[in-house]
This record gives sequence, structure tokens and C-alpha cells, in this order.
Amino acid sequence: MGRLRRSRAHHARRDVHRASRTRVRGRDLDMIQLIDLDPKNRAALEAQALDFEKPGLAQHYCVECAKYCETDAALQAHWRSKVHKRRCKALKEPAYTIEEAERSAGLGREGKRPTPLAVASVPMDGMVS
Ligand SMILES: [Zn+2]
Repeated sequence: MGRLRRSRAHHARRDVHRASRTRVRGRDLDMIQLIDLDPKNRAALEAQALDFEKPGLAQHYCVECAKYCETDAALQAHWRSKVHKRRCKALKEPAYTIEEAERSAGLGREGKRPTPLAVASVPMDGMVS
């Protein structure tokens, strides 16, 4: 018999699966990008008061990942980790806004959009000429 089990069955999708669980649901990327990464908010998040409910008394917080670390060493290790670097890369992309969603649905405010009739007629003219 051949190999029953495929190799490379794990795709390093741990973060995606974790993010989809509501039990550990963190802040969304656009919330971090538009609110938390603001220098004023960032300073407030990094200098939180002692909170006995949070890991590490809320003293070691990664703003990009919205994650509390137990110790400073853990936070330093987290900053060097793949999870954090991947997150930083994702945060560099522009956030998916409600404007973009409306634009893709044809509800944007960028001037007059052609009527459905005109849109249908354009490819026809292209075919003729
Ligand atoms: Zn991080």
C-alpha cells in the first residue's frame, strides 16, 4: 500500500482558525488600524493601569495584535515572532471600509455612475467596431 497520510496537511492557518473563534475574539484589523495605531491611543494602550483581570496585569500589551503578554520577555519574543510580523504586514494594507463595500456594490458616491442600460450598451458598441 502507498502512503495513507498526506504530507504537508497543515497549512499554518492557526491564526485564521483562532480568529474565527468567538471565545478568543480580539479586535478587528480595521479597529486597530484606524483607532489603536493612532499615536495618542497607542500611548494610552501601552501605559495601561494595573488590571488584575488581564494577563500580566495589562502591563505588556502588543497594540498591533491586541494581545496581552505575561512578561516583558514574552512581549519581546512576541515582537520577533512570525505571528506578529504577519500581523504588521496585514496592518500595512488599507483597511476595508464601508465606503469600499458600498463602491463594490455600486452604491459609491464617486459622481454619477452610468445607468444599467448604458452599461449594457457599452460592450455591444465595442463588439461592432
Ligand atoms: Zn504583536
